[in-house]
Amino acid sequence: MRISVVTIFPEMFEALTCCGVFKRAKEEGLIQFDAYNLRNFTTDRHRTTDAYPFGGGPGMVMRPEPFFRFVDWYTERFGKPYVILTTPQGEVFHNELAMELSKKENLVILCGRYEGVDERVTTIVDKEISIGDYVLSGGELAAMVIAEAVSRFVPGVMGDEESLKDSFYNGLLDHPSYTRPAVYKGMAVPEVLRSGDHERIEMYRKMESMKRTILRRPDLFMKKELTEEDKRVIVELVRSLVGGESRD
Ligand code: SAM
Repeated sequence: MRISVVTIFPEMFEALTCCGVFKRAKEEGLIQFDAYNLRNFTTDRHRTTDAYPFGGGPGMVMRPEPFFRFVDWYTERFGKPYVILTTPQGEVFHNELAMELSKKENLVILCGRYEGVDERVTTIVDKEISIGDYVLSGGELAAMVIAEAVSRFVPGVMGDEESLKDSFYNGLLDHPSYTRPAVYKGMAVPEVLRSGDHERIEMYRKMESMKRTILRRPDLFMKKELTEEDKRVIVELVRSLVGGESRD
């Protein structure tokens, strides 16, 4: 998969490609990643990417021409991309969208700055994405968040497919995790996790995951289509909470 961003600050993306899973995915050729300098797609001597807003008001607006030129250049070189515009006014990013985007062959992410980009740029955009209900000074951090989340779903990137079963994967939050030491500052790791009984461990984790989701993110739980297994987990969870009490 090819992920490309266009920005006036390409150097910011070193933070994404310097380390960890994304760096390895790039080195192994699972992801081709490039941060292009929008200024290379300007035509004036000063390489201008912004201008005063029509109608007045504070701040500058990013001019449309460099974005159009970039997408034309890219399309000629690599084929038609799926184009994302980072904006606080877009669809709020989520795990399923990341999964869907990971199936695109060529993903292009446009980064705004200042007061945002000229509205006409939206005519070459397939999806406007926000990473949350707050305002950043630029689209670069948003683009990094999108690129990282998408890359995790590219086959091979996470190695073991089990590693993808994190929070949101099946509409639930992940279960709590523990490591050594078994007791720390008087706090012991739950006995079941040290029991070696894989069936019990599996049920404990499912119940914890269900409990956390209900308590912390009832909105997620309400949206979840419950499977037969989920229903069994809820029954076990309620039983464990009332101390195994049964009506029969
Ligand atoms: N005037 C715009 C508005 O109120 O909708 C905000 C512009 S913001 C200061 C500058 C750029 O940062 C945007 O063009 C966008 O690329 C990026 N940006 C800011 N907040 C964002 C968010 N929550 N999600 C994605 N991108 C964001």
